[in-house]
Amino acid sequence: MRKLTFPMGGVHPDDTKYARDCAIEVLPLPPVVYVSVSQHLGAPAVPCVAVGDKVKAGQVVAEPGGFISAYVHSPVSGTVKSIGPRKDIAGRPVTHIEIVVEGDEWAEGIDLSPELVPEIPTDRAAVLEKIKAAGVVGLGGATFPTHVKLNPPPESKAECLIIDGAECEPYLTSDYRIMVERPDEIVVGAAIMQMVLGGCRAVLAVEDNKPEAIEALRASVARLGYANMEVAPLKCKYPQGSEKQLIDAVLGRQTKPGALPISVGAVVQNAGTALAVYEAVQKNKPLVTNVLTVTGDCLSGEKMHNYLFRAGMTLSYIAEYAGGVPADAAKIVSGGPMMGKPIANLDAATVKGSPAILYLSEEATRRGKEGPCIRCGRCADACPMGLEPFLLNRLAKAGDIEALKENEVLNCIECGCCLYSCPAYIPLLDRIRTAKVLAKKR
Ligand code: SF4
Ligand code: SF4
Repeated sequence: MRKLTFPMGGVHPDDTKYARDCAIEVLPLPPVVYVSVSQHLGAPAVPCVAVGDKVKAGQVVAEPGGFISAYVHSPVSGTVKSIGPRKDIAGRPVTHIEIVVEGDEWAEGIDLSPELVPEIPTDRAAVLEKIKAAGVVGLGGATFPTHVKLNPPPESKAECLIIDGAECEPYLTSDYRIMVERPDEIVVGAAIMQMVLGGCRAVLAVEDNKPEAIEALRASVARLGYANMEVAPLKCKYPQGSEKQLIDAVLGRQTKPGALPISVGAVVQNAGTALAVYEAVQKNKPLVTNVLTVTGDCLSGEKMHNYLFRAGMTLSYIAEYAGGVPADAAKIVSGGPMMGKPIANLDAATVKGSPAILYLSEEATRRGKEGPCIRCGRCADACPMGLEPFLLNRLAKAGDIEALKENEVLNCIECGCCLYSCPAYIPLLDRIRTAKVLAKKR
């Protein structure tokens, strides 16, 4: 069968998905969790519990702070010990609700049984409300509230729901594991979103370095028999999981700069989000758990894991449970090596969308000394957004914000393909990122 991919730019890093065969393990509960009120894109949630309150797992502890915001739930049962600022992974102070864990009692009405519920409800408004009430956010990286994304303006029409199973970043395997281990729930979640979007086509897009996931989802789609749904293998290429590139790969449609996917009839949701939608709608289970990969080139096989964690466990708790930080880890990253964020504070709490703890050795992070641009054009060839990174770099160094804007610096998706391709080791991504921040302020 023909395999799809996006035509412009992109790179082929080694996938290094060493943890691919590590089945999902459930982490034991820690003595305490720290629940962030900023686990989503948009306004922080507002705490609605007080110090001393007893809470159950799945109970709301913070309410949306605006239209683009999300409910936050306790991931454990216990007592609220404190509410106040605590450093996140970047070291920024964010309000957290500290909860001392006492047992594991879940709020009433949450179905934790493994039985599949395949019947798709038909009340669109009620389903959207359930997704909102469960605090579901996009788990592909953006953490945009899902109920907002599934409710496009009436004048726009969703023609295709794309379930992003690309997981194109090297090392990461959490989406792969849920696609292999829980394909039915993902497919039901996709069918629920299809209904919400008016019965459009649904495509579950998976890169061809994950044949077991493709097979598992195909078998599930055939078994469950929902109409207008298919699994599409994609030719492996980074950054295929990025929305615009995925839409181009699957539909051959280009989203204009600054436009939303719905402008070309597409809605993209990550495979993990489809699972969260299933749990929210069919099981009344809020989004308090997710799967995270512990991996890296300085870990041996038995120390790599895919863990089911509760959002609020600290990264240090998970790292310790996995065997501790390797002595030769030169860099610790939340996410993959291309787009992940450096972890400045390992005591930070996990959030709904925490993707991975990635340990990289000195060797894996070593880059040569920055040299002059040799005008080879490789960065421009690799850029999936059609930008000229060598030019943006020059303008960033000169501080020419107007020219940066004219040359579409704000369309950069920070994929790092330019940096990856540059033989002169020019820190293109760092400079372009900084330039974007400055350009946004003007
Ligand atoms: S980081 Fe930005 S400029 Fe560099 S390749 Fe990606 S989109 Fe292009
Ligand atoms: S890849 Fe590096 S050396 Fe080549 S043109 Fe781009 S910035 Fe210059």
